[in-house]
Amino acid sequence: MIQAPKGTFDVLPADSARRDQLELQARRILGAAGYRRIETPAFEATELFARGVGEATDIVQKEMYTFDDGGGRSLTLRPEGTAPVCRAYIEHGMHKLPQPVKLWYLSSFFRAEAPQRGRYRQFWQVGAEAIGAAGPEVDAELIVLLAELLEAMGVREVRLRLASLGSPETRSEYRTELTAYLRANEDKLSREVRRRIELNPMRAFDASDPGTQEVIRGAPTLLERLDDEDAEHFAEVQALLSDAGLRAELDPTLVRGLDYYTRTLFEFSSDALGAQSGVAGGGRYDRLIEQLDGPRTPACGWAAGVERILLAGSAQPTAAQIVDVFVARGGGEGGLAFRIAREARAAGLAAQLELAGRSLKGQLKQADRIGARYVAIVGGPDAVSLKEMESGEQRELSPDEVIPAILRGTRL
Ligand code: ATP
Ligand code: MG
Repeated sequence: MIQAPKGTFDVLPADSARRDQLELQARRILGAAGYRRIETPAFEATELFARGVGEATDIVQKEMYTFDDGGGRSLTLRPEGTAPVCRAYIEHGMHKLPQPVKLWYLSSFFRAEAPQRGRYRQFWQVGAEAIGAAGPEVDAELIVLLAELLEAMGVREVRLRLASLGSPETRSEYRTELTAYLRANEDKLSREVRRRIELNPMRAFDASDPGTQEVIRGAPTLLERLDDEDAEHFAEVQALLSDAGLRAELDPTLVRGLDYYTRTLFEFSSDALGAQSGVAGGGRYDRLIEQLDGPRTPACGWAAGVERILLAGSAQPTAAQIVDVFVARGGGEGGLAFRIAREARAAGLAAQLELAGRSLKGQLKQADRIGARYVAIVGGPDAVSLKEMESGEQRELSPDEVIPAILRGTRL
């Protein structure tokens, strides 16, 4: 038997109601703030991610689905959304539009990871990017919108952690300092961290082994090394968030698995999730567009995991599907039944047609099961009997009278 590939899942009709709800809330909350939806291709040139996400990141080193397109070009299924959105921003000359350009997406992404609860090989993210503005209110507004979305979806036990990475220059000086510190304490570090000291010393903050954690407790932090402008930007972001009533924990050890961040960095997690606790993450990426050969453009954004939002969200009752009329067939009259259902839909009614060849009794049972308000029983080329399900009242009508009668909603 052929099954869905490991780490993937089907979204069955029963699961799609809450996904629809997430889409609706995202559109409502982000749309109201002036964000407009964007969709980019499911695959891109591999180089976009190698350059945009960063060669040294876990994503690029071991999580990408990369393939040859048959013509010698290397393509990769998108593992994240920011680099593609920036590629589109550059490609379509969006720097000529009024800035910032505010975009959101809801798309699927692909990472070759070990599947577990909340971690899949194809998963969905809802994301927002504000490109072309440097001010701290951009960062704060994005974080507030994300918090609103998580709240609207009933995500429980949410924690917001916040840090600043400063500029690449500060980071590079800090990196030298940290590398020297880690080298001096090399014997206590895990093999994995030791092996990657030069490649990515910041990853030491992510390590869970006691030896590395002990070393990290005494390590210098980047927050202590920010230059004046970066420190001021960060202080303003914090002040705006506190004004908005959002509680954020400063976390100088926050690192994210993408290389493009500058200044503000944040992560929302939920203690309701267990091991895969990250719900959403984001930050400022003022150098990314330049790195992709675009004009130097400040930008900020976030991405939230749809499956994790749904796992950590409260199950809300979903509205039952509305069915105005079920068109049943009493005789052999397929054509008229089909026409009535079609015209009913054209008139804005929700109409379902008998498609399974049930007996009339079976059709009435089906109409009841799906909660249809009316059943139109087509008996002959000209004969329709309209039954109101709640009262049980029934009347003979000509075919043209059926839809007006349902629209009036009057008692028969
Ligand atoms: P994690 O630490 O869990 O690996 P990440 O730092 O790789 O997360 P990001 O790249 O920042 O995650 O993606 C943003 C969000 O997308 C995450 O917070 C998470 O909710 C979701 N996400 C990331 N990878 C997966 C995955 N493999 N399956 C499901 N959701 C994911
Ligand atoms: Mg990851």
